[in-house]
Amino acid sequence: MKGCIFCDIVAGRVPAYRVLEDDQTVAFLDHRPLLPGHVLVVPRTHYATLGDLPADTVGPLFLDVQRLALAVEYGLQADGSFVAVNIRISQSVPHLHVHVVPRRKNDGLFGKTFQWMRRPYPSTEAIVEVQRAIQAALASAH
Ligand code: AMP
Repeated sequence: MKGCIFCDIVAGRVPAYRVLEDDQTVAFLDHRPLLPGHVLVVPRTHYATLGDLPADTVGPLFLDVQRLALAVEYGLQADGSFVAVNIRISQSVPHLHVHVVPRRKNDGLFGKTFQWMRRPYPSTEAIVEVQRAIQAALASAH
């Protein structure tokens, strides 16, 4: 869809640190991560919200979400992960996306209230290191 940043990423018009792609899905690192390794999983086709996703596409998308939830955990030696979808409220990009975030005990993501606090990567090298770790975990899970 014209003017959609995630459609531009899917089409390769805008660069992103991709970690997975298949016929229906592209997954890439969030550029303003909640924690390092924060991945966005998006359908290649533009659907604004989860409610717009055709029923037969829910399974393929969430199979990739499941693979990535495991990959960020094992690839980055995390203790668990967090999976979330904002639907209109707090949704800043109107192209459906699933957040997959590696979690560690005491990582501070959930305090008294959950806030979407961003923690930028310190360098491009740090981004590439995380990208490679997730890709390696995906490859070893096959
Ligand atoms: P939400 O606020 O739930 O709609 O999440 C949208 C996410 O997209 C945010 O976490 C942004 O940091 C992320 N984002 C927006 N533009 C880009 C981009 N060009 N590359 C990577 N992540 C992006």
